[in-house]
Amino acid sequence: MIVTIDGPAGAGKSSVAKRLAERLGADFLDTGAMYRGVAAASLEAGLDVTDHDKVADLAEQLNIRFNWSDDPPSLKVDGVDVTHRLRDRDVTRAVSDIAANARVRHVLVHAQRWIGGEHPNLVTEGRDQGSVVFRDATVKFYLDASPEVRARRRANQLREAGREADEQKILEQIVYRDQRDKTRSDGPLICPDDAQHIDSSGMTLDEVIDELYRRVQEALAGAGSGA
Ligand code: C5P
Repeated sequence: MIVTIDGPAGAGKSSVAKRLAERLGADFLDTGAMYRGVAAASLEAGLDVTDHDKVADLAEQLNIRFNWSDDPPSLKVDGVDVTHRLRDRDVTRAVSDIAANARVRHVLVHAQRWIGGEHPNLVTEGRDQGSVVFRDATVKFYLDASPEVRARRRANQLREAGREADEQKILEQIVYRDQRDKTRSDGPLICPDDAQHIDSSGMTLDEVIDELYRRVQEALAGAGSGA
């Protein structure tokens, strides 16, 4: 069983995917962490992240591994735990360039399919999981919310973590990242035709999880009955 959740920045994909995976007894794959891991390694190596060839040369050599015994899984790049770096501002700023790099995407798509083979019960989230990486997924979701709602949620998360948050600036970053994710030539953010579109703007996290869980059960029952 592979469940994919695609959607734009700040739609709540990570929280939803993690809790849905727990409820389904499946593993949870955060593919954004892999792009962030490559961004962190590139910065660590002193590379200019807009230099696509150099970044891709590095990415092709990196050993990127999740430790599945941690909850959520931690990420090691070349044996170094980079989990604490993934949400840092410099990494977040660099990651759009990393994600627009076709050779990096090729490496990570391959790694994600390999993980899918090793973890046959998987809830995976990102921008291209249903549209590119797992085209034959059991159930595909596209989780969306208005940019304003996504900016408010992000700001609240930061404030809860004791950090300052400028909602207007966050909104601008979200609109910028959406634009880049939707217009890149390789693996652009789209809602696949066979994905179920969920607009979570007026829903709580629990309501979204309940709804997705219900739909996965429905899809599994349908598959079991041969429907
Ligand atoms: O989901 P998260 O914000 O951690 O993702 C970081 C960035 O990685 C996104 O802004 C997006 O550009 C990129 N990404 C991607 N494809 C994925 C997952 C993430 O392009 N499957």
